[in-house]
Amino acid sequence: MFDRKTIRDIDVRGKRVIVRVDYNVPLDEELSVTDDTRIRLSLPTLEYLRKNDAKIILMAHLGRPKGVPEDRFRLDPAATRLQELMGVEVKKFDEVYSEEIKDYTETVLGPGEIVMLENLRFHPGEKSNDRALSKALASLADIYVDDAFGAAHRAHASIAGVPEFIPAVSGFLLEKEVETLNSLLESPERPFLTILGGSKVSDKIQVIRNLLDKVDTLILGGGMTYTFLKAKGMEIGRSICEDDQLDYAREMMELAESNTVKLLLPVDITVAREYDKDSDLKVVSPDSIPADWMGLDIGPETARLFSREAGSSSTIFWNGPVGVFEWERFSKGTSSIAFAVAESGAVTVAGGGDTVAAIKMYGLSDKFSHISSGGGASMELLEGKLLPGIEALMKK
Ligand code: AMP
Repeated sequence: MFDRKTIRDIDVRGKRVIVRVDYNVPLDEELSVTDDTRIRLSLPTLEYLRKNDAKIILMAHLGRPKGVPEDRFRLDPAATRLQELMGVEVKKFDEVYSEEIKDYTETVLGPGEIVMLENLRFHPGEKSNDRALSKALASLADIYVDDAFGAAHRAHASIAGVPEFIPAVSGFLLEKEVETLNSLLESPERPFLTILGGSKVSDKIQVIRNLLDKVDTLILGGGMTYTFLKAKGMEIGRSICEDDQLDYAREMMELAESNTVKLLLPVDITVAREYDKDSDLKVVSPDSIPADWMGLDIGPETARLFSREAGSSSTIFWNGPVGVFEWERFSKGTSSIAFAVAESGAVTVAGGGDTVAAIKMYGLSDKFSHISSGGGASMELLEGKLLPGIEALMKK
């Protein structure tokens, strides 16, 4: 359930509406947008606002500038792409805020028109949630809309600060993301399977703990499995491992047992002699990883086991590759999982930059029920946290 007001609950007609969008898009060397998914995802909200005669002011961040302007992080490429997608002019300013911008929004900007501010992170006050910056941004508008799910876990000025000064509601993307992810926690169709991969256990501590209370089956793959295998007393050779998480791994295995959650770890492993894309490889059982080799993917038997589990689930959440999927020789596990989840017939939700990249690489994007636009935000939501970007919005 989503208990915050949305743009449907507020009269935007003729009002200046400042919208926080997530246009943190990849650019090539010519500064063209190479993947416009995030811009497309903002269109339903922007079309609605335009249709309802709002005067639209967009704000976003791109990349990691250090609080000062840097040409390679300007938002012009995003503004150009948005203009092409919407077929209307998007006037882009070169500052985050100025008196001229304020004047423009008050006297020139008309209903249905769109302007875009410069990259918020050119201003040091964005990340530090500076009150003066929040107030200045809020002074440009009558209403605040947050549609930047990918940044909703950040307590930055444009997310947590601006809503303190003007009525604040959600856009359609933020609403859909939160509703979908919350429904996993609140009312998943069972059996509910979660597949977690990626390199580090320490990134997933809270999410594993929270999900062990919700799921029927938890599959662990990727680099983090070796901490679990070692915690079970196995020799893991030179595989990636976080020794300071061994107690945590043991605790999670016990928690799974007491919650009667089926916790599945790999039953065979593709090991490599070197951390190299062309390394020698072989498939071994988890209790016989050679001392000078390292696990870089799940083995074929594990891929079959995990795929069968996906096929018999009704809800699946997947975050994190189960091997070094960037390298073809170690990508088989991740591609098997991607296809098995896509073809499972279950409600399928995926999140995380690498996972989404893998799904795109295999051409499976259309086969998932929902692909989250926010890696960090989706994980924090599944950890059970109230995100700053949601907390700041008016309650229904
Ligand atoms: P994360 O950044 O934690 O989401 O993890 C994603 C990264 O984990 C990807 O770049 C994978 O290459 C990497 N990864 C997956 N499995 C392994 C493994 N067995 N050993 C080392 N890295 C891995």
